[in-house]
Amino acid sequence: MRDLHLFFILILFASCSDIETFENSTCINNITTIDAESGLKENQSVIIQDNKIVRIQETKKVNLTGNSTFIDGTGKYLIPGLWDAHIHFAYIEGLAPSMFDLFLAHGVTSVRDTGGKIGFVKKWKDQADADPKNAPRVKIAGPLLDGTPNVYDGSTPSRPVLSVELTDVESAINKVEELDKIGVDLLKAYEMLSPEQFSAIAKIAKEKNLKVTGHVPLSMDVISASNAGLNSMEHLRNLEMSTASNWEELLAIRKKLLKEGKLKEGGVLRSNIHSAQRREAIEKADPEVTKKVLAVLAKNQTWQIPTLSIMTGATHRPFGREDWQASFAYLPDSIGQQWSDGAKSVMKLPPTEDRIKYSNWMNKMVKDLHDAKVEIMAGTDCPIFFLTPGLSLHEELFLLVKAGMSPLEVLKAATLNPAIYFEMEDQIGLVKEGMLADLVLLNDNPLEDIRNTTKIESVFKDGKLFNRSDLDKLFNKLSNQ
Ligand SMILES: [Zn+2]
Repeated sequence: MRDLHLFFILILFASCSDIETFENSTCINNITTIDAESGLKENQSVIIQDNKIVRIQETKKVNLTGNSTFIDGTGKYLIPGLWDAHIHFAYIEGLAPSMFDLFLAHGVTSVRDTGGKIGFVKKWKDQADADPKNAPRVKIAGPLLDGTPNVYDGSTPSRPVLSVELTDVESAINKVEELDKIGVDLLKAYEMLSPEQFSAIAKIAKEKNLKVTGHVPLSMDVISASNAGLNSMEHLRNLEMSTASNWEELLAIRKKLLKEGKLKEGGVLRSNIHSAQRREAIEKADPEVTKKVLAVLAKNQTWQIPTLSIMTGATHRPFGREDWQASFAYLPDSIGQQWSDGAKSVMKLPPTEDRIKYSNWMNKMVKDLHDAKVEIMAGTDCPIFFLTPGLSLHEELFLLVKAGMSPLEVLKAATLNPAIYFEMEDQIGLVKEGMLADLVLLNDNPLEDIRNTTKIESVFKDGKLFNRSDLDKLFNKLSNQ
């Protein structure tokens, strides 16, 4: 890769009167571009000025003047910057200061935070907004909007305080008003909400043009939640309970368990309900019921963020791999050591039969959803369960392809779809003239093997170029903390 900073006129080819001149620009020459709209296009010249893509054309002569950079893209591939559409800055607060660099170094130029204390996540959003060239774009939901008893209540280290406990409809409405004023980008509804609370949240969110994502509340079925205004679902959560032949019976039992369990800890009650119903629901998965549910999700545009990285993590176990464990060196020392020890002890136990069945169900459901034309976004749930921020997004892409989506469809799930979700498709998500220059330059073709998204030569964030040596410096900085 040549990467020359030029301070005088550079004439790439023999001079000619109609050669266009670009000042203080970056030209990636003779590159293959890939995006969800145009697919793969060879022999392109991409010119970046300030923070935008100002020209894309078949490779031809251009003049670069002033402080310009020329990149020979021969044999390389340019894709839009990647999104991780499900992350938590607040899950391990001590890791949050490393997360911007981890994301950028892995080509993740935008993230969607799906739950954490509002003061904490807003701080990271504000920091990212203030320095867009050195941080990923950050979209936040604020806290999980949960009912009573709430799940993430701080009662154990694995359930830090990520949620607020809303005791009635009025408190749910007030909380949405408050979060909207603070400036959240979406809302996250959680599992213990009552149907009345959920509907009130969805209604007010619509008035405020905020999307509602979430876990389908245990007190509801998927069709009712989607019809009430659920814009997207995380982890396919509780979908199995609504696609079983006896879904009505399961819902009635859940309502009873919720009523009886009011005095339990939220996390305990939730896992009791999951263990009481998940296996049976998967065993009774009904193709006709599933078809009906998925048709409603497609019609209502209730998108899915399957987060296979975490949901099939117990069976797929990337954290057992050497390359994965090597990534723990980029975490603050104490966290890296904890993850390393934790991953080793999990590896000693084989996955349970139930986990294997659940993973298989997840993979099949991703393919069914995709075939039913339900849109999908790529998200991981990092940094939970040894999911190294940035690296884990590439694992998610691999898992989505493994589940049956094509590499181009998976790239769409990590680029154009999140842009559309946040109504930003005229700014990011494609390699196209006029778009913001959030881009990743790869050394190999991701359409031939999705694993090639890890072969990163350069990253552009808001027009700023991080070449290979800049990215290595980021990794060095992360290793020495
Ligand atoms: Zn999450």
